[in-house]
Amino acid sequence: MAITTSLAGKTAIVTGSNSGIGLGVATEFARAGADVVLNSFTDRDEDHQIASDIAAAHGVKVRYIQADMSKGDQCRALIEKAGACDILVNNAGIQHVAPVDEFPVEKWDAIIAINLSSAFHTTAAALPMMRKAGWGRIVNIASAHGLTASPYKSAYVAAKHGVIGLTKTVALETAEEPITVNAICPGYVLTPLVEAQIPDQMKTHNMSRDDVVREVMLARQPSKEFATVEQMGGTAVFLCSGAAAQITGTSISVDGGWTAL
Ligand code: NAD
Repeated sequence: MAITTSLAGKTAIVTGSNSGIGLGVATEFARAGADVVLNSFTDRDEDHQIASDIAAAHGVKVRYIQADMSKGDQCRALIEKAGACDILVNNAGIQHVAPVDEFPVEKWDAIIAINLSSAFHTTAAALPMMRKAGWGRIVNIASAHGLTASPYKSAYVAAKHGVIGLTKTVALETAEEPITVNAICPGYVLTPLVEAQIPDQMKTHNMSRDDVVREVMLARQPSKEFATVEQMGGTAVFLCSGAAAQITGTSISVDGGWTAL
């Protein structure tokens, strides 16, 4: 039987998608023909403008729904408001870096809530819709830090390892249904936030752009190249294609060899 690649007629909800990887993933879903729901905690004109721009570029329906992924009830409300959820991408995430004995409690709580608990709440709300529709795909954006650790990132590493545990568990709970649950583990991805750090790093280390990228920022990424948001989107679209229908409960590293070290 031919493998399906079009996502026409499907609705994809991508949390934390007004910038960076989430926006890249949402754009690739639109390119593949899916209707898309964008989300973040803000409600600015530009958030809605991003939705209109993607809709115009790809001829699909795109809505922006404000919901704060640090709050369980708002995570569930996002799914309910969307009204349909064939594809759920749990992407919203934040970072804070500090030694564990100095880690601010409110930062720990926020990272666990946004990076991990939100995926529990959205998944719980989305699964009944997927079951009713007879098809579903959940893609959790974890990290190379879901498989390995770095010092000073205790909350982030704990949350991302948790995301991979949640991915495996929900995959087993849905294994006999036409629903798959997988994680993508990006290495260092060139997002606007990462791009903005380069000039400061060049000054701090007194290095050229190429050297600071290679020797400092990509010290742990053997390819010495950033991954791109389009590559994250393409991987997510692949996980929703017919070719991936038997891929469930796994983590796909898109990290230039980081976790092979
Ligand atoms: P980003 O800051 O550009 O995007 C984060 C998104 O989450 C934004 O849209 C932001 O508005 C949203 N967000 C933050 N707090 C939120 C909240 N309370 N409610 C709703 N939305 C919220 O960062 P990014 O690099 O694109 O990160 C996206 C995901 O990819 C995160 O889960 C991150 O951990 C993961 N990741 C990023 C990299 C990288 O190198 N950039 C590497 C591995 C994993």
